[in-house]
Amino acid sequence: MVKIRADLIIHNGTILTIDDEDSVIENGAIAIESDRIVAIGEEDEIRIKFSATKNINARGGIILPGLINTHTHLAMSIFRGIADDMPLDEWLNKNIFPLEDEFINKNSAYWGSLLSCAEMILSGTTTFCDMYFFEKETGRAAEKIGIRGIIGEGIVAIGESDKAIWNNKKSLTIELLNKFKKSELISIGVEPHSPYTCSADVLRESKQFAKENKLLYIIHLAETKKEFTDFERERGMTSVEYLDTLSVLDENTLSAHCVWMSKDDIKVLKARHVKIAHCPQSNMKLGSGIAPVAKFLKNGVTVGLGTDGAASNNTLDMFSEMKSAALLAKVANLDPCVVSSRETLRIATIEGAKALGKEQEMGSLEIGKKADLIVIDMDKPHLMPVYDYYSHLVYSAKGSDVKTSVINGEIVMENRKLKNIDMSEMMKKVKMISKKISKKDKA
Ligand SMILES: [Zn+2]
Repeated sequence: MVKIRADLIIHNGTILTIDDEDSVIENGAIAIESDRIVAIGEEDEIRIKFSATKNINARGGIILPGLINTHTHLAMSIFRGIADDMPLDEWLNKNIFPLEDEFINKNSAYWGSLLSCAEMILSGTTTFCDMYFFEKETGRAAEKIGIRGIIGEGIVAIGESDKAIWNNKKSLTIELLNKFKKSELISIGVEPHSPYTCSADVLRESKQFAKENKLLYIIHLAETKKEFTDFERERGMTSVEYLDTLSVLDENTLSAHCVWMSKDDIKVLKARHVKIAHCPQSNMKLGSGIAPVAKFLKNGVTVGLGTDGAASNNTLDMFSEMKSAALLAKVANLDPCVVSSRETLRIATIEGAKALGKEQEMGSLEIGKKADLIVIDMDKPHLMPVYDYYSHLVYSAKGSDVKTSVINGEIVMENRKLKNIDMSEMMKKVKMISKKISKKDKA
């Protein structure tokens, strides 16, 4: 029998498909043609039908859909560790905003984003969802290294010049749409920063623009107690209710954080089919609070996982984030049964894909989906012995256990070596940028 030629076969691994049945295939193999999965099954079956130009031996490791980081500010990695251990207000207004004004430009946005993309691929992320400035540079960095992502200009537009700022951001968004129109990896979002940093008009008009262009609308929501109490005091409603009065909440809205929620807020999010990007480590580090994830899940609200920026985390390692998500929910509820390892792994993969509206394309390993997958090296003392794959991936594995990564059918990392960038050049550039920042910091 003539075999079908595939571009790539990954074999000799245990496949966790994360499909609807959570099917697991021992001694599995996956055949990839161009950017898609064309076959998945036991290695013997796949070998009878397919041969491939390139074969990757998973050596008994786990083959998993790539992790989906639903909330990032990639270029902020140039500020990693610069302002820790302080309240969000002070962190943002006295540290991050002035630093951004002075040091975020095209050059730092590109190298900071590339640094983050490298860190993400090296720790198992294959798709991100970013909000920041100079996003064209972020898109360029992502395409260079070969990672998939949603990018969008962060919109801070309140007060007298709100409309002018929005108009500028709108044209930047149109530029992004044109620049990445044919991109296999990059798509665009409309991203007002929060209900309190954008005027009602800008929140509404940007939603209208997102609708017209069928784009995801991404916003920070109910992150801090201050936001919650300010809205109650000033408007007599929660920030969720406020956004609902502006009619910007729907199935194409992704809200990051959602920590401070009234009972009715959860009902509103559920009724409007709003998706949530849960960022437990950032919420812990900034002392913001604990998002009621177990309640979201119980109510059928779609929850993805996000690291937030490297300045408030301080890494982009989704394995570490998964562990935090599972543990934090247990301690918050004084109940070890909530947010199980199985649920957590779904949150970091297929549920994240749903949060981004991309579940038809990614989030699980199934025929016809994009070939975005990672191979975990299980031959490590901290992953031995193996009784439960889900348990190991959430509670024991680290980002550095990811050995190989395939995104859009392309091997972007093999045996922990990134294929598309010169790491030493990137490290040098980031060091140069950080030297300027630390001079200023000491002045
Ligand atoms: Zn954020």
